[in-house]
Amino acid sequence: MNSQQHQFEILVVGAGPAGMAAACAAAEAGKKVAVLDNAPWLGGQIWRGEQAQPTSAAAQRWLQRLRKSGAQVFANATAFAAPAPRRLLAETPSGVLELTWQKLILATGARELFLPFPGWTLPGVLGPGGLHAMSKAGWPVAGKRVVVAGTGPLLLAVADRLKQHGAQVSLVVEQTPLAKVMRFGLGLWRHPSKLCQGVGVKSRLLGVPYRCGCWPVKAEGTGRVQQVTLTDGTRTWTEDCDYFACGFHLVPNVELPLLVGCALSAGAVSVNEFQETTVADVLCAGEPTGIGGAECALVEGQIAGLTAAGLTGESRALFSHRAGWHSFRAALSKAFCLRPELRQLTTPDTVVCRCEDVRRDTIEGFANWRAAKLHTRCGMGTCQGRTCGAAAQFLFGWENVSVRSPVFPVRVGALISAETTNNNLTTPTLRV
Ligand SMILES: Cc1cc2nc3c(=O)[nH]c(=O)nc-3n(C[C@H](O)[C@H](O)[C@H](O)COP(=O)(O)OP(=O)(O)OC[C@H]3O[C@@H](n4cnc5c(N)ncnc54)[C@H](O)[C@@H]3O)c2cc1C
Repeated sequence: MNSQQHQFEILVVGAGPAGMAAACAAAEAGKKVAVLDNAPWLGGQIWRGEQAQPTSAAAQRWLQRLRKSGAQVFANATAFAAPAPRRLLAETPSGVLELTWQKLILATGARELFLPFPGWTLPGVLGPGGLHAMSKAGWPVAGKRVVVAGTGPLLLAVADRLKQHGAQVSLVVEQTPLAKVMRFGLGLWRHPSKLCQGVGVKSRLLGVPYRCGCWPVKAEGTGRVQQVTLTDGTRTWTEDCDYFACGFHLVPNVELPLLVGCALSAGAVSVNEFQETTVADVLCAGEPTGIGGAECALVEGQIAGLTAAGLTGESRALFSHRAGWHSFRAALSKAFCLRPELRQLTTPDTVVCRCEDVRRDTIEGFANWRAAKLHTRCGMGTCQGRTCGAAAQFLFGWENVSVRSPVFPVRVGALISAETTNNNLTTPTLRV
């Protein structure tokens, strides 16, 4: 495999709203900037597909601004190892990039939180964001009966989009009690853009029941999901469906920040007011620092980019704007915190680690995540614990803060080529 070396003053990992904003701010300040993303598109989760078919004005604006900024873009580039200080390796389809940087901005976003319940591994049970992403990429959902469940505003946003793609969304089930959801909704007057979005979504979902204080019990079907059982804690009932889109909000992607040594606080990357992490010259912006939505990610990204470029005055000027979005972020996490009943969804034979087929009764006796991994292989499959690690943290209270390279599965050729160009590369774990 080829290996190419590049040097940048500022390297940004992740080209979602936070990474794009950071790259624009830094490149417009005259710095030599690169931004890389493991996806083939720019825009991260929320703006995926916007490059080809723009539908959002904000996405258009930021994509154009990035194009004009002079920042170099590497798409399909997965940062997987940090073999030495100020050096990162990324796998691309044509080889390995060896990137050296003076300032690093980590904008690696978040992923959906999945909690196991009986039947959650059946085909047709997906995360709401995942089903939305698939439908955006052309997966046919028209005419399909979809039940959306879990927690957070993403449920309604996804139900709305699926309905626009022709799906028959029969029900949206939110685990947060109605009173808390109402309180969150009433507080949106402080964030008029979110209020407008919420009103628009709710009006387009007229006729689709939104039941709060309910959660899934099990999914069943022959070969794929055909019905789901739901409960409000006292009553259970079933709904027929072709897809069950179930996700419990998002968890920050902190693996790369951990690999370069950043400290965490409450599961998110710790940053100071300038978005600087605990590691010198490493900044972090967007959802690795907490789940706050695209607007919060954009302003954090700009602050990180300006700070990295040395424009701390300009960066400081954005603090009050960010404070508004941080209050939204706090309200979001308060309103949609997970109810304890969700810890009881699994039965002893429920698979918790779906990559390695490890059941709850196989892992629950261990003292911590590390011991469970060593004895049962849970968390050692393709997703490398990204799914079951977060679930086990919620179910058993296990912390999972140890990572090693490669943080994403990469081809053996990438590891070999990285090894030959880098005598200092920590020997990675090969899975064959
Ligand atoms: C599946 C999903 C669907 C969502 N759908 C919606 C929606 O419909 N509406 C809505 O309002 N919000 C949605 N959100 C939330 C929204 O995406 C976020 O609020 C917003 O995008 C946060 O921006 P960000 O830049 O912090 O992260 P992201 O947009 O997640 O961007 C992070 C980027 O970093 C890349 N990355 C991560 N690690 C690496 C690595 N090691 N190497 C290279 N690249 C890397 C990722 O591929 C991603 O493109 C969704 C979130 C998820 C997870």
